[in-house]
Amino acid sequence: MKRSPTLSAAVILLLAGLASDVVADFDAPVIKEWSVKEKNEEGKEEEVFYMTIDGILVHETDPAKQPPPPVVTPGTPSTQKEAGRAPSDAVVLFDGTDASMANWTDTKGAPSKWVAGDGYMESVKGAGYIQTKEQFGSCQLHVEFATPQRVAGSGQGRGNSGVFLQGQYEVQVLDSYGWAVPGLGDCSAVYNQHAPLVNACRPALEWQTYDVFFRSARVDGSGAVVEPVRMTVLHNGVVVHNNIQLPGLTGGAIDQVEGTPGPLLLQDHSNPVSYRNIWIVPLPLKGSDTYEPR
Ligand code: MG
Repeated sequence: MKRSPTLSAAVILLLAGLASDVVADFDAPVIKEWSVKEKNEEGKEEEVFYMTIDGILVHETDPAKQPPPPVVTPGTPSTQKEAGRAPSDAVVLFDGTDASMANWTDTKGAPSKWVAGDGYMESVKGAGYIQTKEQFGSCQLHVEFATPQRVAGSGQGRGNSGVFLQGQYEVQVLDSYGWAVPGLGDCSAVYNQHAPLVNACRPALEWQTYDVFFRSARVDGSGAVVEPVRMTVLHNGVVVHNNIQLPGLTGGAIDQVEGTPGPLLLQDHSNPVSYRNIWIVPLPLKGSDTYEPR
């Protein structure tokens, strides 16, 4: 059947319009180019080209017109004996002090029954999950954990805990040291969704690190996910997930709409797992988003 060219054009325009409403390219820089006639040093008129990227003139030399980025004092790395220090722009959620336990509650908003030890906190069987009072969207997360020497079982009973980004997506904590083929339930797996690329575990009782680069889901006006969560995860400095997409929530997620800020959540899975040196740098997002970044 031959379709009317006018109708086809209208349909294409309509689809393009709908597409641009729903699947916006959030991270694309806004580039503008123009030219004007200006007189050069010899008084001769010539065409000069200008270009801005995200509103800043290319080759701009006036600091008032191109504000410098903020200065951040980098943190220090941890050792097995001592926790490192967070970078100066981080929200410090737990630094080993009793005072920083005040940043956390149980899932009902009451003080948590997790215990604070000498520079660390530890899950307590039956105390339930612990979560931050503050809510976060896209972010860089640093967290350190140690699984217990006293193993309460095998498989999912070996030092089981978990780190839930936005309260909804679990990076598994488990004693998977030496496990030949780490699977969907092993340490550093995105639980039941992505197995780690490699097994980068340290043995029980040793401090281990997760560094997570988390990009929140994007939702449209009706709350439907139009771009899924993306994550990159380093386990003890080793890449175990490289910009993966998540198909949705993991088991144990708190009840809230995807793409909205949520707490950082640590799991009580009946095994005494320790945590220390927890901080987050909220990541601002270019372009429009469904909520205001910090
Ligand atoms: Mg777990």
